Amino acid sequence: MAYIYIVPIETSTEGWLEPLEHSVQSVFGVQAKCSRLPVDLGAVYDETRAQYNSSEILIQLIADPPADAVKILGVTDVDLFIPILTFVFGEAQLDGIGAVVSLHRLNNGFYGMPEDNRLLVERMLKESVHELGHTFGLLHCTHPGCVLNASTYVEDIDQKSVDMCPQCRAHVQARPDLPGGTPTQGFGSTVLK
Ligand SMILES: [Zn+2]
Ligand SMILES: [Zn+2]
Repeated sequence: MAYIYIVPIETSTEGWLEPLEHSVQSVFGVQAKCSRLPVDLGAVYDETRAQYNSSEILIQLIADPPADAVKILGVTDVDLFIPILTFVFGEAQLDGIGAVVSLHRLNNGFYGMPEDNRLLVERMLKESVHELGHTFGLLHCTHPGCVLNASTYVEDIDQKSVDMCPQCRAHVQARPDLPGGTPTQGFGSTVLK
């Protein structure tokens, strides 16, 4: 049995990982399970930016992948960045194994708005499916409502659904790394937010 691993990395919202497991399973048709893998956030903290380098988190996440892991998704509360951008909601290896999402800027509280946990969970599900979609080789999609639409602002996330459009879905269903196929071995080096 192959699994999509969901790995909490310093997140106070572990109770929400169960709905995340269900969403990931239903969208990708692969069993998901929560599990811990060693990630040292202290080592990827950038003091000048007061943020955490998401590419370096990815490197740690996939350093020693469990044999039954088809994908590994890290979920964290800390604010993520890549050097060329102010922040990222998440990052993934295109056609690789690893992805990471941050709840930091998905939270209404971050924007000085009233907390809304229902909305926060929904955004977390969408961004998680989005990043995992990249690991299944999907690029950004322009189909209205598709979860693979690029999101620059949190409002953009609210405009899309938690599911893929028919074209993206067909692409994923043809993947060799889904059950019955041979898992991809190479860790794609291209990363997308
Ligand atoms: Zn699409
Ligand atoms: Zn993306």
